[in-house]
Parts: sequence; C-alpha cells; structure tokens
Amino acid sequence: MILTVTMNPAIDTAYHLDHLIIDDVNRVVPKKTAGGKGLNVSRVLCQLGDDVVATGLMGGHMGAYMGELMDADGIKHDFAPIAGETRICLNILHEGNQTELLESGPEVSADELATFTAKFAELVEKADCVTISGSLPKGVPADYYVELVAKCNEAGVPVLLDTSGASLNAALESDVTPTLVKPNLTEINALLGTSYTPDQVSELAAALQADERFQGIPWVVVSMGAAGSFGFNGGKIYRAVTPPIPAVNATGSGDSTIAGFAHAIAAGADAATVLKTGNTCGKLNAMDPQTGHLVINRWDEVYNAVEVTEL
Ligand code: ADP
Repeated sequence: MILTVTMNPAIDTAYHLDHLIIDDVNRVVPKKTAGGKGLNVSRVLCQLGDDVVATGLMGGHMGAYMGELMDADGIKHDFAPIAGETRICLNILHEGNQTELLESGPEVSADELATFTAKFAELVEKADCVTISGSLPKGVPADYYVELVAKCNEAGVPVLLDTSGASLNAALESDVTPTLVKPNLTEINALLGTSYTPDQVSELAAALQADERFQGIPWVVVSMGAAGSFGFNGGKIYRAVTPPIPAVNATGSGDSTIAGFAHAIAAGADAATVLKTGNTCGKLNAMDPQTGHLVINRWDEVYNAVEVTEL
C-alpha cells in the first residue's frame, strides 16, 4: 500500500468562463474535486493501479464532503478529524488565465495534531512507501514533517517529501533524511538564493552536491517543467528529457511526478526507471486538462520517448 499525506487539503472548485466579467454577474458550472497536492498524487497512483490510502486532516461539513469526493474517485482514505472546516479553493479559468482564490485553511490544535501523529504511525506500519506533499496548516510547526519522516525511517519505509519554503528548509536542516525530495527549479532557486535556468543543469548539480543540506538524502530530484528533470542517486547524476508536447494543463505535474516516483520506488525499480516513470507521469498530466490526472492511454508512447542519461 502507498500512503499519501495531505495536511492541508481543500475542496478545489474550478469554474471555466469564456470571459470573466468584473463587477457583474458571471454564471458558472462548478467542477469540484478533493484537492491538495497529496490528493493529486493519490488520484494518479490509482490510475497506475496502486493500492493507495490517503491520510491527513479534515474537518466540518467540507471535510465530510471531501470524503464523498474521494469515495467518488475510488480513493481509500483515513483522515484524522479536526474541529475547523476544510478549506475551499477557487480556480477561475478564463481567457487563457488562471485566477485562484485560496483560503488559508483551518487552525489545528496540539491535541488534533497528536491524534493524527498516532494514526500516521499506525498507517506507516502497513505502507510500502509514503508520500508527503504540500503546505502545513496553521498551528502545525514548520518542522512537523521531520517527525513524520523519522517515523517512516524507524519503520524502514521509503518516504518522498514534496514541500517548499519553511517546511522544506526544516527537513533539510534536520539529521533525519527522507528518501527523496523533489523541489522544482523555482523552489530550489529560492532555497539557494540563485537563478539557475534549465540550461545550467551542471552548475546547479554542482551547487547541490556542495550543499551540506542535501547530503545523505538518497534521491534529490529537481523538476524543470517542459525541460524535464535531473536527479542524484547512488553517487550518480541523471538527466531526464522528453520531446516537447503541447501542454494542456501542467498544474499537478509535480504531484504526478511524485506519484510516478512512489510507484517505481515501492516496486523496487532501478534509478533510471524511477526517473523515467516520474517524468512520464508529469508529462502525461500536462497533456490532460484535469489536474492530477494522466492521459494514461498514451503511457507506452510517452514512457518510451523519455530519455534518461547519466551526466
Ligand atoms: P511542479 O508542478 O512541481 O512545478 P514541474 O512543472 O517541474 O513540477 O513538472 C514536473 C514534471 O512534469 C517535469 O519534470 C516534466 O517531466 C513534466 N512536465 C511538466 N510540464 C511539462 C510540459 N509543459 N511538457 C512536458 N513535460 C512537462
């Protein structure tokens, strides 16, 4: 079983409009999904045929509704309850633009967090791989993911950590190391205070190798959108590239990449296969209008076109 963690989920509501009229009535048909990065990972893992359990925190009427949306998607879930209402995030797609209104989400109490931590410890015992994605809700300390990673390490279960900002920094500063981190180029530049482009992979790879915070992490992958990705594993640097495709909706490509990595790592795949699987998922998501969803019927074509080379 692959366990996915979403600490700050949302009911994602998308509205498609030809024109957004400001200061007047816009009539819309909503598309609602159980959202948050970890739930995108879950949906893609379901498509890949994995046995998935989604966990995290959810509360109130919106939390109950999120459970129904996960049921409708066939995602097994076991979330810890909180008193606060699960948030709603609005995504207005209009004239080629994407205007988002994101609620910050509920505040979590120390007792609620302790309940989740205990649940997580139980679920990890049954997992072959764990993915931890996204931001932490209010009330949860920035280094909380370190605690979850430590529990995975104690249980001997690989753990993939996909977060940014303070929670990524806290994890990198810690002696407790996840199996894989996957910042994108923007996130890694923010962390290093640099402005590397996809043309400067060798320089960026050297900067990461020299950076103490990345030592001891078995897999460090930097994803670079249409330019593919590169990653370190087992003392080697790998570069993954794919032929260009017309991207329809690249939102959730990073989450889909994490799903691909988890799928391959849980299956004990070699390094090149892990990277190939992750990039295939990222790309197939970019080809699909739905976020966190692959054009799965083009798997063979895309998988065979991804090239992984050792740098
Ligand atoms: P994030 O969503 O975390 O910002 P990226 O945008 O780097 O992640 O995308 C993750 C992966 O998805 C990339 O490494 C690549 O394999 C694939 N991908 C994303 N956007 C495109 C695109 N426009 N064309 C082809 N592949 C893409």
